Amino acid sequence: MTNDPTSEPNLEELTYSATRTGTRSILPDNMISVEEARARILEVFDVLPGVETPLDETQGLVLAQNVVAGVTIPPLPNTGMDGYAVRADDTAGAAYDRPRTLRVIGYLAAGAVFDGEVRAGEAVRIMTGAPLPPGTDAVVPFEETDEYDSSTSDSKYTQGQWQQTPRDEVRIDVEAKPGANVRQAGEDIAAGEMVLRAGTVIGPAQIGVLASIGLDCVRVHRRPVVAVLSTGDELLRPGQPLTPGKIYDANAFSLAAQVRAFGGVPRILDVALDTIEALTARIHEGLADADLLVTSAGVSRGDFDVVKTVLAAEGRVGFWTVRMKPGKPLAFGTFHAPQNRRVPHLGLPGNPVSAMMTFELFGRAAIFKMLGRLVHDAEAWRRPTVRATALDAIRNTDGRRFYARCHASQDATGRWSVRLTGPQGSGVLTSMSLANAYAICPEDRDVIAPGEECEVMLVDRESPPRQPLPADAPDRA
Ligand code: AMP
Ligand code: MG
Repeated sequence: MTNDPTSEPNLEELTYSATRTGTRSILPDNMISVEEARARILEVFDVLPGVETPLDETQGLVLAQNVVAGVTIPPLPNTGMDGYAVRADDTAGAAYDRPRTLRVIGYLAAGAVFDGEVRAGEAVRIMTGAPLPPGTDAVVPFEETDEYDSSTSDSKYTQGQWQQTPRDEVRIDVEAKPGANVRQAGEDIAAGEMVLRAGTVIGPAQIGVLASIGLDCVRVHRRPVVAVLSTGDELLRPGQPLTPGKIYDANAFSLAAQVRAFGGVPRILDVALDTIEALTARIHEGLADADLLVTSAGVSRGDFDVVKTVLAAEGRVGFWTVRMKPGKPLAFGTFHAPQNRRVPHLGLPGNPVSAMMTFELFGRAAIFKMLGRLVHDAEAWRRPTVRATALDAIRNTDGRRFYARCHASQDATGRWSVRLTGPQGSGVLTSMSLANAYAICPEDRDVIAPGEECEVMLVDRESPPRQPLPADAPDRA
C-alpha cells in the first residue's frame, strides 16, 4: 500500500467557505481535481493474479504469461487452392494452346496425407488445406485445368459438386512455378516462437492465434469481483410495489452494469438501511470475496449519511470533494477484510447520474488496473476524445468541471458536433440513457456557447439514442 487515502486533503475536516459568489454555489477550498483523485485511487490497486482460464472465457482479459508456440503452423506445406498437386517442371511451357497432360494417381482431402511419391508426369487431385504429396512442389487450380471445361464430356463438375472419384488424366492449361498456390510450413508460426506477450489484451484475433497453436487454456489476470452496495432507507428493489416516500434502487443495477462493461464481475448486495448496524453487516458480507467494494449514497453531508461513520470504524478512509459535476463527494479508503486482506472501497454519491459518472471516471480505471490493462499502457482506461462543435450551450454553474450528457455525431466530412440529450440534473438518468458521449466544460469556463468547440469523451458509440431530443431541450444544469 503506497497510498494513504486518509492523508490530506481530508475533507471530513473541511471548512466550507464561499470561494465564489453570485451565481456560483459554495465550494470548499481544498477540492481535488479528477486527475488527482484518480491517481490516488489507482495507487491503491494492484494487478490481480494470473489464473489458468479456458480460452473462450478470456476475451477482454490480459495475458499473464508469454505464449510460446509448441507447434509449427501450418505444420506441413499445403495447398491454398483446390486443384492438382504437380511437379512444376512437368508444367513448364504449358499454355491454353499447348496444354500438358498428367496422369492422376490419387485424390487427397484436407486432413489426410498422401501415401506414396509423385513421379514425373503424375499429379494428385487435392483439396484446400491438404498437405502437398511428396514429390510435388506446386498446385494448379481447377480453373487452369480441363475440370472447368464444360465442353469436355468427362467433366467431373456437376451441379456444384466435385465427384469423389479421381479421373485418370488431367489437362494442365497454364504453367505453374515452383511454390505456386502452396502455403509453406511455418508460414504463420514456427515452433518455439513467442506469439503473444504477457500484457496483451485478448480479443478475437488473439484467441484465434492461441487456438491455432492448440491451447485450450491460458493464464490471464482474473476479473475483479466488485461488490455493489446501495445504501438508503428510501430504496426499494425493482419489482416491489412503490410505497410513499420510497424510490427504486437504480444505482445497484447501473453500477453493476458498468462493472460488467469495464471487465469486472459485479455482485449486488442487499440494500443497506441507513443505520450503523445494517451498513456494517452488509459491508462485511460484501468484503468476503470482493476485490473492490462500491457503495452509493451516504457520503454527503445529510443527517443520515452513516457510510462515513462506518467507514471510519471499519477501515481507513478519506472523504474527498472532487472538482467535477455531476458527482462531488467521494469517499475512498480500504477495509480490513477476512484473511488479512485489505479491500479498497469507493464510496460514490447517491444521485444516480453522479454515481455513474464517478464510477466512469474512477471505477473504470481501477478495474482496468486490476485486470492488468494498465501494465503496458498506463492510460488505457482513457476513452477516446474528440473536438466537437457544441450545438447547445453547455453551462458550468459552479466552477467544477462539467461533464454534460450529450449525443455526439460526425458529419460526412468527419467533423464532430454535440447536442445535449436533455436536462442535466444529477438525478436525471434518462438524459444519461440517451447519451453516447460527455462534453466537457472546463473548470475555468462559464459556458461553451453554441458554435464553440469543446472536448468530448466518447463513451458508448455502439448505442446511439433511439430518438434524439429536440434542439430546444431544456438545459437545467
Ligand atoms: P444521498 O447521497 O444519500 O444524500 O443521496 C442523494 C440522492 O440520491 C437522494 O435523492 C437519494 O434518494 C438518491 N439515491 C441514493 N441512492 C440511490 C439509489 N441506489 N438509486 C436511486 N437513487 C438513489
Ligand atoms: Mg441518503
